[in-house]
Amino acid sequence: MSNPSTGLIHHPYAPPAGFVAPQPGVFKASTVIFPNVAAMRSREWKDKSGYTYGLHGTPTTFILEERLCALEGGLQCLLVPSGLAAIANVALALLKTGDEVLIPDNAYGPNKALAEGELQAWGIRHRLYDAMNPADLAAKITPQTRLVWLEAAGSVTLEFPDLPALARLCRERGVTTVLDNTWGAGLAFNPFDFGDGTGADISVHALTKYPSGGGDVLMGSVITRDPALHMRLKLTHMRLGLGVAGNDAELLLRSLPSLALRYQAHDRAARELARWMQGRPEIAQVLHPALEGSPGHAHWRALCGARDGAAGLFSVVFHERYGTPQVDRFCDGLRLFKLGYSWGGPISLVVPYDMAAMRDASLGTWPHRGVLVRFSVGLEVPQDLQADLAQALACM
Ligand SMILES: *Cc1c(COP(=O)(O)O)cnc(C)c1O
Repeated sequence: MSNPSTGLIHHPYAPPAGFVAPQPGVFKASTVIFPNVAAMRSREWKDKSGYTYGLHGTPTTFILEERLCALEGGLQCLLVPSGLAAIANVALALLKTGDEVLIPDNAYGPNKALAEGELQAWGIRHRLYDAMNPADLAAKITPQTRLVWLEAAGSVTLEFPDLPALARLCRERGVTTVLDNTWGAGLAFNPFDFGDGTGADISVHALTKYPSGGGDVLMGSVITRDPALHMRLKLTHMRLGLGVAGNDAELLLRSLPSLALRYQAHDRAARELARWMQGRPEIAQVLHPALEGSPGHAHWRALCGARDGAAGLFSVVFHERYGTPQVDRFCDGLRLFKLGYSWGGPISLVVPYDMAAMRDASLGTWPHRGVLVRFSVGLEVPQDLQADLAQALACM
């Protein structure tokens, strides 16, 4: 037998068509092969009528995009390698020198860091606004404002803003809105329809969190309902070379069917533990938008009450009498809650935050002096998590 190399590379066997299974196939490619030159010249990468190159999509990523559109109520979707890459894709597509972007003071920290560390150097100005005060946003929109970020609930501090009021303001002023929809996950509320005729223009989702659900995949999505807006985002996506791996898309496709069940389980357990923490003498304030007395609770009820969804996050502010060393001892004393960033996976996580370093003091909206600790509740048995919190409080 002669050397089989060429035969192995160009093997003619093709399996029969018609294979049907619960999960779609995993296609992986840099190169996509064309049947002839005419097809190569005429194939269009901008729509989903065919395939041109791995970065422009495969059957696997197209399927994932369509399912994410169904989840969030959008019409077009871009996949990127992380939630932060989704934030960057939007900023780089829609902002140019001389423009201005407004970001909520309580936004996901790296969104603010991108504006400070990158956008500023390109002559794109950013300002922080008080998400809980629509008048502050109204006062900060200028003729240069091209983009307003919305986020609900606030990262770490979990205030729930009046999203319809913020979106209405932006629409009246003709400014594009982009919602970081990671907390809502497409389940707590519809990012494109807040129920009063308003909605965000773009929804960004860190699929890393609940859609993955495993703590093992990084991915983000950028979803729209407007084809022209989508095309602007897609051109930047293409020029920056953003794309996702087939195996990561596969993991997302495997996790999506259980998303709603997992989200609800995280949510129920988090509410149970947050209420229990409310009764603890060490705690000055529990921050969870579905709990009465938490900032923005009425806004949460108005937007999310019908679906009654609230993710699996809550934060607590310790009484001032507990300093950082004692709260560190509490965090170190936890056994089931692990110290780690991100959230949405099966393992409960905890992070202590230095609020003085996180908020813009000029906005003056952070009323607490005690140390803040954020919990991401996983899928463990809630009673076991409560016992863990109790024994760690005793460590203080
Ligand atoms: C985690 C997170 C992101 C970023 O997601 P990565 O995939 O970790 O980059 C963006 N926004 C919010 C609200 C997040 O929680």
